[in-house]
Amino acid sequence: MKYKIEKQSGAAFKLKKGQKLKVIDPSGEQVSDMVLFNAHDIREKISSGKTMDFEETILITTGNYLWSNRSRQMMKIVEDTNGRNDFLLAPCSPETFKIMYNHDGYHPSCFENLYTNLRPFDIHPDDVPTAFNIFMNVQFAANGKLSVLPPLSKAGDFVLFEAEMDLIVALTACSAEDSNGGTFKPIHYEILEEIE
Ligand SMILES: [Zn+2]
Repeated sequence: MKYKIEKQSGAAFKLKKGQKLKVIDPSGEQVSDMVLFNAHDIREKISSGKTMDFEETILITTGNYLWSNRSRQMMKIVEDTNGRNDFLLAPCSPETFKIMYNHDGYHPSCFENLYTNLRPFDIHPDDVPTAFNIFMNVQFAANGKLSVLPPLSKAGDFVLFEAEMDLIVALTACSAEDSNGGTFKPIHYEILEEIE
């Protein structure tokens, strides 16, 4: 099945162990934040710290696993045609736009789009962890300085994940100007090897 996430929005769905999820950037230069929860116990969720620890890298791509707070593999990255993702920065939130950009008033955000789509699964704002930021291009200098640059992804680039356990997955089409080269585009996803 193929699905479309409209610009500045999100989606949440279940993925069974062994199923594959393909997250596609249809236009290029568009980030998608992804969070994962164990479908049978939502207290187990994706962990940036555990993933970087066990994978021994901060650049997570083909061949790497995404790990949980309980030190278990949640997903494997089977293929990554772009090769640049971020796992350092938290999902953009209303406060991001206030604190970093002095933006007044409402601004759509990944954080809102994650928790509103996760609500039917009884997952709430305080439960949302640091997301795996697909296609996000965060560069770091030797002194530790971070810079958010436009994604390197071209139209049609994708990351293919395989579920290592039954999961609840939430995905966004990111709403932050600086993360997406200044324009907002949709994200497509596909669930492969449907079971049943
Ligand atoms: Zn975002």
